[in-house]
Amino acid sequence: MVRDETETHVTADVAEKIARVRERVAVAAARAGRDPSSIRIVGVTKTVPADAVEVLDQAYAAGLRVFGENRVQDAARKQASLFANALAAGAELHLIGYLQTNKARDAVRLFSLIHSVDRPGLVDALQRRAAADGKHQDILLQVNVAREPQKHGCAPEEAEALLRHAAAQPNLRVRGLMTIAPLVDDPELTRPVFVALRELRDQLQEATGIALPELSMGMTNDYEVAVEEGATIVRVGRAIFG
Ligand SMILES: *Cc1c(COP(=O)(O)O)cnc(C)c1O
Repeated sequence: MVRDETETHVTADVAEKIARVRERVAVAAARAGRDPSSIRIVGVTKTVPADAVEVLDQAYAAGLRVFGENRVQDAARKQASLFANALAAGAELHLIGYLQTNKARDAVRLFSLIHSVDRPGLVDALQRRAAADGKHQDILLQVNVAREPQKHGCAPEEAEALLRHAAAQPNLRVRGLMTIAPLVDDPELTRPVFVALRELRDQLQEATGIALPELSMGMTNDYEVAVEEGATIVRVGRAIFG
């Protein structure tokens, strides 16, 4: 009995947290005159253990349909346990973290969207693997807008060449851009980073004629600012599963 009560408490908590994030997304969207249904919440499960199936099922029941992992190996390990029910019910997995070229094959098999494509060699590897599987792989180009030396992502001035290269691949579909803002205490300080990603997207669309509808930006600390600045995908971990 005690165990059941504990589990009920934990899972109800996740549903409440999701409701709170969704509400804040809606309020931020309203401030910017945006339709909240144009924003997808990716539940980042990197801290959720593979056997915490009830947590994941509760998140799915609360309406989350996309889950994000930052390592291919972790997603592969959790595929048959943590994610089994949600995937069977139609949920999607996204890769949000750095992708090694030698993991491209597994990545193409596991993820409906890869947020972290940041170099031509990775584009080539993904094209090869997607072609071999007969898949059209959706990708985002990760841009290191804040130019943080420890972060992955191409430099803003490299984005156009990378976009043209990726868009020329028959088995890849570039859907937009992704960035990770610097971790700061005041989320307001991240706003220029999100504005810069949106403006880069606008410039790239203008220069290339390639549609880039998705902007993946915003995490627990700063997703409301990101929504105000045009995020179509927010990647939220701690606020839901923390
Ligand atoms: C961990 C992670 C997130 C989620 O971060 P939280 O602060 O827990 O919301 C989002 N994006 C990337 C790339 C991450 O690695």
